[in-house]
Amino acid sequence: MTTGSKEQKRIAIIGAGPGGLTLALILQRHGIQSVVYERELHDQSHERGGSLDLHEESGQKALKEAGLYDKFQTLARYEGEDFRVLDKSGNIYIDDEADTEPDGAGARPEIDRGVLCDLLLQEIHADTIKYGYKLDKAVTLENGMTELQFENGFVDTVHLVIGSDGAFSRVRPLLTDIDVEYSGLTMIELNILNAAANYPELAAFNKRGKMFGLDDHKAIIGQVNGDGRIKVYAAFRIEKDWLETSGIPFNQPKEAKERLLDIFQDWDEQLKDYIRFAEDALLPRRIYMLPIGFQWNRNPGVTLIGDAAHVMSPFAGEGVNMAMFDALELALAIARHNDDFSKAIEEYEEIMYASSSEKARDSDYSLKLCFSDNAAANLAEFMSSIIDQHNRQ
Ligand SMILES: Cc1cc2nc3c(=O)[nH]c(=O)nc-3n(C[C@H](O)[C@H](O)[C@H](O)COP(=O)(O)OP(=O)(O)OC[C@H]3O[C@@H](n4cnc5c(N)ncnc54)[C@H](O)[C@@H]3O)c2cc1C
Repeated sequence: MTTGSKEQKRIAIIGAGPGGLTLALILQRHGIQSVVYERELHDQSHERGGSLDLHEESGQKALKEAGLYDKFQTLARYEGEDFRVLDKSGNIYIDDEADTEPDGAGARPEIDRGVLCDLLLQEIHADTIKYGYKLDKAVTLENGMTELQFENGFVDTVHLVIGSDGAFSRVRPLLTDIDVEYSGLTMIELNILNAAANYPELAAFNKRGKMFGLDDHKAIIGQVNGDGRIKVYAAFRIEKDWLETSGIPFNQPKEAKERLLDIFQDWDEQLKDYIRFAEDALLPRRIYMLPIGFQWNRNPGVTLIGDAAHVMSPFAGEGVNMAMFDALELALAIARHNDDFSKAIEEYEEIMYASSSEKARDSDYSLKLCFSDNAAANLAEFMSSIIDQHNRQ
């Protein structure tokens, strides 16, 4: 599916996260070349973030189009769908054990972010990705092309630029003045390495997937990763400057952990073990979001996918799925209209706006639910209503 004698117009993808890599690979499978500019010096996906569940209608669908579905099945962790919800006293509200047999129907198997990116990277021609290219600024030229200015001094000019450079996109300002806002959620990431061997009781308590301890507008979340660690998030619905005003010395891990334990002092001891047993490294993070239903002014040579287009809180587990769904839809639209990028962008953006606004609403609803009064009971009630609804269909 090449353009024959016509010269291929130049396509640049900014950011080699799951969205950018999926896009580059599906384009490549359609004979369309692109260049991916990534700010890091090498792939850092293993160091960034934990396990992700891939949904049938989005993440898994994109992997099918990328020709990676069978390989994914050999790596997918169906048992990672185990899900427990407790309140601060240790009362259990949800205790679901996953079916470990892939049945294909609505299953949401887990894969670590690093493993997923490796899968994509193994198939992408090595010279497609340029590491160490941090986009500083993008400028629309009079002829409609975009000039990309990188921090290392390199300048490129392309017909189509796709921002897949995450929440703080440097491509987005070409399309809108709207910027991300603080979502009201701050998360502290911790890690319990080799949990089954080092802390068997906690590992058994957590089971094979996710554990949500929810109460008092706070959360302790445990998530088993493929490398045997439990990734832990202490999460707070709290004002934006809390990381500074709390006085917690996040660069002094031992003391910071003590201070976190003080905040959760009236919580069940086993829930507090998630903080106690964690390694001495804490990663505090404010969670940002774009307005729900956010759209931009159409530009025939520029578009966005993934977090750059619709970053949302992680409480609907949709971020990576949406990034891969966008990549799939955009790649297919470009393949359909390889000689008319503006048509491709128009078709893609209509589909993306509809799906992402729905997921952003879901994500906002779950965030509010998980940090409401009696959150554990509310989440259990909500999930059973979804199951009832599903069973009635
Ligand atoms: C704590 C936390 C937990 C999460 N849990 C889940 C979950 O369970 N399930 C789920 O689906 N999603 C989850 N997410 C969201 C998910 O990680 C993101 O939605 C997903 O990674 C978006 O992919 P992306 O490719 O759009 O962007 P990113 O993954 O952010 O990738 C952007 C890439 O662009 C590069 N880049 C950035 N700026 C530049 C620049 N100026 N120049 C060049 N390169 C640049 C970055 O280095 C990076 O490689 C979570 C997020 C957080 C913060």
